[in-house]
Amino acid sequence: MAANQEGIGVLKLECPQRHPVGRILKEAPHQAVQYDPGAQVGTRRFWPDEQDQPQFTIHCRFCDKSVAEATTALQNQLASLVDDVAQTIRTATLQYA
Ligand SMILES: [Zn+2]
Repeated sequence: MAANQEGIGVLKLECPQRHPVGRILKEAPHQAVQYDPGAQVGTRRFWPDEQDQPQFTIHCRFCDKSVAEATTALQNQLASLVDDVAQTIRTATLQYA
């Protein structure tokens, strides 16, 4: 992986029990940020949407509970990851809403 990774990043989202609840990703430097809920759950969409403000809430289907995080906090985490050329994947833990 010697290719230039600058401008891309994948923020993996987990509930407090470490279940995967989707990913926020930017796959190319000039591509818009997308939310990928996981293949079994639904399709990708642009993120954040109006409904994702100010709190991004998702449902953990393993816990059957809602988990949430401030949208700006997730945007900041993704931005610092995108700026980091050495790292492309990071995990963010959301809290029960
Ligand atoms: Zn869970």
